[in-house]
Parts: sequence; C-alpha cells; structure tokens
Amino acid sequence: MIQHFDLITIGGGSGGVAASRRAAVHGARVAVIEKAHFGGTCVHRGCIPKKLLMYASQFQNGFDLAGAFGWSVGPAQFSMSDWQDAKTAELLRLESIYRDMLQNAKVEIIRGAAEVISAKRVRVGDRELSCDRLLIATGGRPAMTAFPGLDQVLTSDDILNLRTVPKRFAVIGAGYIGMEFASMFAKLGSDVSVFSRGQHPLKGFDQDLRIRISQALEQAGLQLFFHAAIESVVQTKEGYMLRLQDGQSMPFDVILNATGRVPNTDHLGLEKIGLNLTPDAAISVNSYSETQVPDVYAIGDVTNRKNLTPVAIAEGRAFADTVFGGLDTPFHHDQVATAVFTDPAIGTVGLTEAQAIERGATVIYASQFRPMATTFAKRKEYSYIKLVVDAQTDQVLGIHMLGPDAPEIIQSLAVSLRANVTKRQFDQTVAVHPTVAEEFVLMHEPVRRIPA
Ligand SMILES: Cc1cc2nc3c(=O)[nH]c(=O)nc-3n(C[C@H](O)[C@H](O)[C@H](O)COP(=O)(O)OP(=O)(O)OC[C@H]3O[C@@H](n4cnc5c(N)ncnc54)[C@H](O)[C@@H]3O)c2cc1C
Repeated sequence: MIQHFDLITIGGGSGGVAASRRAAVHGARVAVIEKAHFGGTCVHRGCIPKKLLMYASQFQNGFDLAGAFGWSVGPAQFSMSDWQDAKTAELLRLESIYRDMLQNAKVEIIRGAAEVISAKRVRVGDRELSCDRLLIATGGRPAMTAFPGLDQVLTSDDILNLRTVPKRFAVIGAGYIGMEFASMFAKLGSDVSVFSRGQHPLKGFDQDLRIRISQALEQAGLQLFFHAAIESVVQTKEGYMLRLQDGQSMPFDVILNATGRVPNTDHLGLEKIGLNLTPDAAISVNSYSETQVPDVYAIGDVTNRKNLTPVAIAEGRAFADTVFGGLDTPFHHDQVATAVFTDPAIGTVGLTEAQAIERGATVIYASQFRPMATTFAKRKEYSYIKLVVDAQTDQVLGIHMLGPDAPEIIQSLAVSLRANVTKRQFDQTVAVHPTVAEEFVLMHEPVRRIPA
C-alpha cells in the first residue's frame, strides 16, 4: 500500500527539517526523506565543523598576545587528529538532536535517496509514497568543473576531515568559504596561498571590507594571487602541482577547491514534472518558495537565493506557515545579516555603498582604529566600521564591520536595521565603554557624501 502524507520533504538539512517541523506543528502529516545525515551541510560539512575549526585556530592569537599581558606561555602544539575526534563526536551528538526534534514533532523519518515520480509521488528504494504537497530541500555541493584536475583536489567537505595540518596549502576561490579556510589554516601553521580570478576577495561584499581583509590577511603572511588564471592542477607524488596560464607552476601539499557550489537538482527526477531550472541549475521559485508546478515547493541552497543556514530555515518556516498555518508569509532576502569567520572577522548587513549609491544620494560614516588589546601588545592590526546612510531620510541602509567580534556585533545591529534605524538614533545611543562596538555610535562626521 502506498503511504500518503500531507507533505513530503526531500532533504533533512537545515531547511527541510525546519519546514517539516513547522508544518507538523500546524497539524500536517509529514514525512522527511534524507539520504545521508540529518542536519545536512551546516551540521556535517559546513557552519558547525567550520566554526569548531575556527575556535581551534583562534587560540594562536591568545598565545601570541599573552606575553604582552604578562603571561609566560610554553610551546603550544595543535593536534588536528585530536580536534577531528572531538569534532566527530560533537557532530554525532548534534545529528541525534535533529532526529529527536523530528520524532518529537511526529514527523516520519525515511532514510534513502528520494526520486520524484510525479508532483505527488516519490520513490525511496523500493517504497513509493504519495503526498498533497512536495517540498524539495536537497541543498548543494561543491562545483568541480572550472578547469582540468579540479575534481582531484579537496573540497570543503574533505578539508574538514583532515587529520594533519598541511604545510603548503592553496585555496582556489576567494568567496567566504575559501577565505575562511585560508585564514584558519594560516593560524594553524600552514603556508597559505589564495588564487582568485577577481581583483579582490569576497565578491558582493562592501568594497572597503574587501580591500581591508586582503590587506589584513597579507599582513598576517598569506599570499594572495588575484587575477590568477589557473590552467590545471595535476596530482604528484608529494601532493599537487598548480599550473597558471602564464606558465608558472607551484607545488602544494593540499589544495582546496572553493570555486563555488552547485544546487542538487540532478538525479532527482525533476524532469518528469517539468520543473523550471535557472541557468545555474537551481530550482526557480517565487517569494513563497512556490515552483511553477502546482503544489511543488523548494527552499534553501537548491534554490540558490541566499545560501545561508538561517535563510534556509526562514524560507522553510515561511512556506509551512503559509501553506499549513494559514498565515500569508512571503520571505524577502534583503536585510539578512551575514558573517565571514576570517581573522579579522567580518560582519555585514544591508546595502553596500555601491548598492546604496545606485538608489540615490548617500552619506558614508566610517572609522578605522586599532583595538585596545592588540594595540597594548604593539601589534598593528586595524578594525574598520562603516555606516551607509540614505542622504534624504537619514535611514541607515547598510552596516559593515571588520574586526574582533564583528559577527556577534552585527547580529545585534541587524535588529536596528530591520527596525529602520536612523543615523540620528545611532548618535542618540550612549556608548558602552570600553568596547569595540561603541565606535558605531561615536561617528559624528561623514567621511564622504555621494554626490559631494
Ligand atoms: C564550508 C561551509 C561553511 C558554511 N558556513 C556557513 C555559515 O557559517 N553560516 C551559514 O549561515 N551558512 C553556512 N554555510 C551554508 C549552509 O551550510 C547552507 O546554506 C545550508 O546548510 C543550506 O541548507 P539546506 O537545507 O538548503 O541544504 P543542506 O543542509 O545541504 O541539506 C540538504 C540535504 O538533502 C539531502 N539530499 C540531497 N539529495 C537528496 C535525495 N535525493 N534524497 C534524500 N535526501 C537528499 C542531503 O543529504 C542533505 O542532508 C556553509 C556551507 C559550507 C559548505
């Protein structure tokens, strides 16, 4: 007998789990199908293990600074193998929490790779299921095709499973994933080189942050190769040889492919229901996550809108609230705060300066300063903060920061942006002293007005 559900979700990652649980709370009978591990990319190959590696790498800063504050610290050593064992145990713990959350919500858990037979039928192994509504939340995976040999190097999935820190480490691609691993492995002791086609890292971020993160990482000893045209990568006995189109060849022990990610839309049977894909193979949806096929929805990285965990979760909940909760909830992707866990870190929300200028007259407030702790240790490290303000209304349109705790600080400031904060309200806010964040309420003179 074919089992019937109000909702079948394909993919038990951040988005799929959140949508399924919320639909069940609204009274729907839900099944979620997962072919690997509940929790998906974020828990097993993304945000969580990456942040655990970032924590490991940050200890280096503490050791470096300790002497200036009166401590004597002996030689410190990092065992990636010990970290790896502890990380694996932690991820198993988190996966069981995800499973429990689904079970407690009375969502049926089905293991296996799902294939769509029709808009209302799904096959998993030799089992067939039917539903009133189908939600596709299958996420994405690393892209492998930019040039010959790229499929032989490591992806972020593999990097997070290393048991030793590579000596000569190259990163191809300067998006946030590439820059984060570059920065972390430099702190862990690797000689790091980053190769990117562009002029600056972190395409899409505010230009002032992009320039300053390059400067900071170069100052920390990373080699950044911009406008780099890679011809191929060849595996050698010692590791890899990276060949550039200008004839240069460079040897590395480990190379990370951080050239981007592609949505998981193949091997799903989507062609059987005539689903529209975008040119980059993502499922095309509207602000309600509806595809053009009635009763078929898609959320998260498979739609390639803003590929972040909290976004996948918010899209999933908005879908469930609209379809099963009777609450009209479109989801808009503006004003989503995001972080880059480099050292120094980045936090950003709202419009970049360039985006604001496209909309109209803009005023920029910015400040660059040396944080107290590193100044005390006589290190030349700078923090940078910036407010992008609408010249007509005084509304703050964008908030950007590079420096210690930027991700934590930007989360709080994102609330004020969401509430349409004005620059005057920043000025009226009393500082918390002595902090880095107080600089945000102490910038009284603009650095430029556009137009002047
Ligand atoms: C290295 C890295 C670092 C990241 N860091 C951050 C960060 O710091 N902050 C942040 O917000 N985001 C981060 N992200 C992005 C974040 O992980 C994703 O945006 C998020 O996981 C997307 O959730 P999702 O539900 O769309 O997909 P996923 O979490 O990828 O889940 C999709 C699930 O579908 C399953 N699946 C696929 N096909 C099938 C099938 N046919 N049948 C059954 N199951 C199937 C997969 O096994 C997977 O479990 C990072 C990503 C990476 C790779």
